Amino acid sequence: MEDRIYCYHCMTYHPAGQMRRVDTPRGERWRCIRSIAGASNSTAERDAFGGRQTELNRLRARQLQESATPRSRSFSY
Ligand SMILES: [Zn+2]
Repeated sequence: MEDRIYCYHCMTYHPAGQMRRVDTPRGERWRCIRSIAGASNSTAERDAFGGRQTELNRLRARQLQESATPRSRSFSY
């Protein structure tokens, strides 16, 4: 018999070996490593994509600003 623990994320039971205890605002809960890995992966991809977009937007904004006002170079990073 394998121990099974209730996964609050999937709302079902998983083998204890796949479960990790996580802190939530409502206290400790058990969640399977698969759901944790999936959440962190999607978050990382979203952050990377958002970072690229932000960088592109900043470059474009700077180009626009420099072409429009060639003398304003006060915003050096
Ligand atoms: Zn689960």
